[in-house]
Amino acid sequence: MIGDGEALIAKLGDRFSGLRGRITPNAEMDKITWFRAGGLAEVLFQPADEEDLAAFLRAVPEEIPVMVVGIGSNLLVRDGGIPGFVVRLSAKGFGEIERVSETRLRAGTAAPDKRLAAAALEANIAGFHFYHGIPGGIGGALRMNAGANGVETRERVVEVRALDRKGDLHVLSNADLGYAYRHSSVPPELIFTSALFEGMPGEHDEIRAAMDAVQHHRETVQPIREKTGGSTFKNPEGSSAWKEIDKAGCRGKMVGGAQMSEMHCNFMINIGNATGYDLETLGETVRARVLENSGIRLHWEIKRLGLFERGREVREFLGGS
Ligand SMILES: Cc1cc2nc3c(=O)[nH]c(=O)nc-3n(C[C@H](O)[C@H](O)[C@H](O)COP(=O)(O)OP(=O)(O)OC[C@H]3O[C@@H](n4cnc5c(N)ncnc54)[C@H](O)[C@@H]3O)c2cc1C
Repeated sequence: MIGDGEALIAKLGDRFSGLRGRITPNAEMDKITWFRAGGLAEVLFQPADEEDLAAFLRAVPEEIPVMVVGIGSNLLVRDGGIPGFVVRLSAKGFGEIERVSETRLRAGTAAPDKRLAAAALEANIAGFHFYHGIPGGIGGALRMNAGANGVETRERVVEVRALDRKGDLHVLSNADLGYAYRHSSVPPELIFTSALFEGMPGEHDEIRAAMDAVQHHRETVQPIREKTGGSTFKNPEGSSAWKEIDKAGCRGKMVGGAQMSEMHCNFMINIGNATGYDLETLGETVRARVLENSGIRLHWEIKRLGLFERGREVREFLGGS
């Protein structure tokens, strides 16, 4: 049962004795996600460093689920919570960014995207300005192939270090990451720990101007100060998600405390005390309306995690069982 994280920790007892990271039972995911909504993680583990994470993964029996979250800017956690372990990398152990050559930077995956953009500016490396406007971390950017302003993560990644569910280390090339629009095909159990990026030689003032333009554009078209998860749905082939949502009459649509933003109608926002149920029901309502209006099946960009609360399940397109 979620809410009994102490029992899970007690069950694993001595296996965890050598770990240096922080273990928190019944962790409130609404304190982590940008939506400020959702249930508990049965146990949250914040490893001290890569070695500590590997030791943790070796210690957790294979049948107990382990999943990783980043800064939480692309997550909808369901109200029934997340069973097993949620791993969140700490800035202390995984937040370093270093310049390794004239055009290359290595970044820990807990570093915010904005810090990578700032480090590239400082090193006069062009091609990272788009990260200045994305509020997530490098781990999430690698997983989501985050992109903006015509550039995507896949255009900058050289290689990524990752641990698998058994704690074994893998070094993945760009091709191994299997990138497509807002998608990587690597198995979800891989936890990225750091990545090597490459840009181009650049001029400080030009890079600064590109970053300022990114920020200015965001402030005028996106509700960036709201409790949101960014773009709710991926753009469908040949159109934009927001256009389809607008045409289906869903701009400003509300369910409980959740609303499709009036400012940018592909952004879902928590306008008060939205639950995970409100947010997901609103999302599926929009999908159903768009399907009915234009025949397009929108796909979630936001990652939905965890279990529904009993009796409050949300069906795809609000369909029957
Ligand atoms: C206001 C706003 C604007 C946004 N604008 C953009 C935009 O322009 N472009 C864009 O692409 N996105 C945008 N986003 C979405 C989001 O910021 C990105 O997807 C970001 O890359 C997610 O990073 P995160 O650290 O928050 O990841 P999370 O939301 O915490 O997690 C997202 C996914 O990444 C996985 N993950 C996280 N860390 C790791 C790791 N270390 N190893 C393996 N998997 C990991 C998680 O399991 C999950 O599947 C926006 C969001 C907001 C709130």
